[in-house]
Amino acid sequence: MKRVHIYIGIIAALFCLTRSLPACAVDDQGRFVLVIDAGHGGKDPGAVNGKNQEKSINLNVALKMGKLIEENCKDVKVIYTRKTDVFVELYKRADIANKAGADMFISIHTNSAKSKAANGAETYLLGVEENRTSANLNAALEENKAILLENDYEAHYEGYDPNSPESMIIFEFMQNEYQKESLKMAQFTQNQMITSAKRPDRGVHQAGYLVLWKSTMPSILIELGFISNDAECKYLVSQKGVDEMSQSLYKAFCEYLDYHNKLLEKAVPTAQAIGNKGADRELPVYKVQFMSLKNPLKKNDKRLKAYASVNYYEEGGMCKYTCGDTTDFDAIQQTKKEVQKKYKDAFVIAVYEGKKISVKEAQQISQKFK
Ligand SMILES: [Zn+2]
Repeated sequence: MKRVHIYIGIIAALFCLTRSLPACAVDDQGRFVLVIDAGHGGKDPGAVNGKNQEKSINLNVALKMGKLIEENCKDVKVIYTRKTDVFVELYKRADIANKAGADMFISIHTNSAKSKAANGAETYLLGVEENRTSANLNAALEENKAILLENDYEAHYEGYDPNSPESMIIFEFMQNEYQKESLKMAQFTQNQMITSAKRPDRGVHQAGYLVLWKSTMPSILIELGFISNDAECKYLVSQKGVDEMSQSLYKAFCEYLDYHNKLLEKAVPTAQAIGNKGADRELPVYKVQFMSLKNPLKKNDKRLKAYASVNYYEEGGMCKYTCGDTTDFDAIQQTKKEVQKKYKDAFVIAVYEGKKISVKEAQQISQKFK
């Protein structure tokens, strides 16, 4: 048993390492990117009750929710992990979101239980609850079993075994850097499902969902209700059910978007002209210039948060955006490499006593202080 735990500890440590890499992809138009994930599909029906299948309920609600957002939130880009009845591996769902540089990942599911009486909606974020109930644990275990239908699941989940409840221990080692935002979104969602769609409240919980673990952004997983409960199943497959559930998820998303935009406005310092501040430093300061625009970005534009210390200066009638802010020339070279992954033409500039000077001059001045 001990050896098993050491092994799990090692792979858990590896997870943490791979997860801590920064995700800095940004939508080119600065829009909020939402990924909607309809759980299961194709050869994987998810939970079933008679001829009713979870995959169809999830897809109906996902498409309707996405449509509402596309129609009403022009500054949001919606991406679906599937729009039809096809099988998509769990890691690929997360991959779609990661590659798109998504700001939020919402996975939609329908629950199932042995007891036909169990009903109600619940929302999950990644993690482990202190007083977790076996119901929470089982819900995650059941959903994670979808990977058994994948051709080579052993290759993609770092040894996670969906047949072993013990495997869930890996999630205890994890730190979720997006927990605050995920929790907010989960709370808005749960609240809307119980108030606007009038579903019985099973609360917000944490559990080890693989699809959430693989995605590197705030993420939640929704269990709309229980397909195993005949009355709830009937509601969820009805047009009324689909309409009410998607409406409630849409409203919750709007609340989150509002929260997100306000947060961004607070967090982003007002961009300043280069000469106004920071002129009191004795050493030249290096920055990476990565973008040149006719007009300054709006305060809530996420490109302002894509890198550390994003700022701009005006030159030749253009707003020139920079990031990084250091007197260390080697450090700025590193930053430049990072930024060039997204902005190929990014280059280093130097500022001294409130004025832009050539990098060569700056290095000469720096030398004097050594
Ligand atoms: Zn499911």
